[in-house]
Amino acid sequence: MPNKKGGKRTSGADLQPSAQTLAALGELALEWNCSRCDALERAVYHSKSSLAHAYHEAGHAVIALEFGLELKSIEITKVKCPHPSELPARLQLMVAGMIAQRKADVPEAYIAISGKLDQAKCEQVIAEDGLSKKQGIAAMESARKAVEDLFEKKYIWSAVRRVAARLFEFWEMSPMEAAKVFEEERTKVEE
Ligand SMILES: [Zn+2]
Repeated sequence: MPNKKGGKRTSGADLQPSAQTLAALGELALEWNCSRCDALERAVYHSKSSLAHAYHEAGHAVIALEFGLELKSIEITKVKCPHPSELPARLQLMVAGMIAQRKADVPEAYIAISGKLDQAKCEQVIAEDGLSKKQGIAAMESARKAVEDLFEKKYIWSAVRRVAARLFEFWEMSPMEAAKVFEEERTKVEE
């Protein structure tokens, strides 16, 4: 999880990074030669982390909008919206964060951190739906493919980039503003 001193979004217990996350971040910091770095390098490192989170949540948010779901809130660590009732759409919405990160060339280590919870939730809903392991794997595969195709659409990816940029800078965005960005991009296509 990103941590911003003085930010109002860091007080919740759910935003505390787990030991595993800290270990993964430590590895990443080493990889990026960050453990011995100066303040400037650390700032770059942390901004990369924020950007990775911003793309993740922007991916969820824009796919939710594409599905016609009403966003309740959008923050750099969390998007709240209703769950689609159908399993394929639910899985697509859940994998959208990771796929947006991959398309944005976010390092895999970050994708693993942000996507861990989504992955677990996908497995949970697949199990709840009574799918076999094989069916579950196939369902995940087609969800990934469907979202990759959606992100290939110019208006969708443009909206993801704009929402991510906004989240990167301000750490949150009003649902109304995100919906406006999405509509603007979609309208450009129709013109
Ligand atoms: Zn996610």
